[in-house]
Amino acid sequence: MRIVTDVLSMQREAERLRKSGQRIVLVPTMGYLHAGHESLISRARVLGDVVVVSVFVNPTQFAPNEDYTRYPRDFKRDVELAENAGAHIIFHPSVEEMYTQQHSTFIDCGDVTQRFEGAFRPTHFRGVTTVVAKLFNITRPHVAVFGQKDAQQAFIIKKMVSELNFDIEIVVAPIVREVNGLALSSRNTYLSPAERERATALYRALQHSKKRILEGFFTWDVIRNEMRTILEESNPTQIDYIAFIDPATFEELTTVPQGTVLVALAVRYGSTRLIDNLLIHRD
Ligand code: AMP
Repeated sequence: MRIVTDVLSMQREAERLRKSGQRIVLVPTMGYLHAGHESLISRARVLGDVVVVSVFVNPTQFAPNEDYTRYPRDFKRDVELAENAGAHIIFHPSVEEMYTQQHSTFIDCGDVTQRFEGAFRPTHFRGVTTVVAKLFNITRPHVAVFGQKDAQQAFIIKKMVSELNFDIEIVVAPIVREVNGLALSSRNTYLSPAERERATALYRALQHSKKRILEGFFTWDVIRNEMRTILEESNPTQIDYIAFIDPATFEELTTVPQGTVLVALAVRYGSTRLIDNLLIHRD
């Protein structure tokens, strides 16, 4: 496995691979890799010939009051995990390599970036789309793999790719969880053992919504209140939102449709903010 740290070398390597007919698959990450990232890399391996994993904690997707400086980093471990999972190249640039002091170009995907996650993190998605577009231009992938864990991010990336005509296939891989239901996240490392236990309430609340939705007789307000009760038993610091979303449009559902419902939530324990979601298929 090769480690590439500069943009030009990565672009040259990508060009060389493309010319030799190899299919490049990109897995963008912020590092501190876990089994969720590992599953994305495994998926990437079957989608192409060369798997590029980017490891870059992107400052433009963090607001000044967020956890950019304390975001967990362990590049040595990331290299081992990515290599064992089957990655061929790690792209690991510095912030200076990715952004000049004068950087002022951003991609804005509109209203959807201000809903749900965006209501609490209004500048987050423009940082995400901007860095992902840069990573696309640097690693020149045929396919890129994202996690359903960040459902809104995956939706917005697909929208960007479609509306800006990137010739890249976007694949979304399922959420990897611990046995107790807690979705794996690099940010779980912020949680104390007791908070980790309490945080299993997110999955319990999601499972409850699934049961209620599949029963068929409900209103969104009733299910939201029941989920809130389950979450409140875990003594969270704050429940940011519990949302019922049409995954085709990423708009909040008002009526109860046939087909698939995305239930998404964000909850804080202490200063740690966790997100999770569940896709529920109704016939
Ligand atoms: P991050 O390093 O947290 O920015 O995540 C990089 C990619 O891994 C994103 O596409 C995430 O959605 C995905 N990811 C993070 N956690 C998980 C998980 N538990 N299961 C599956 N994918 C995940």
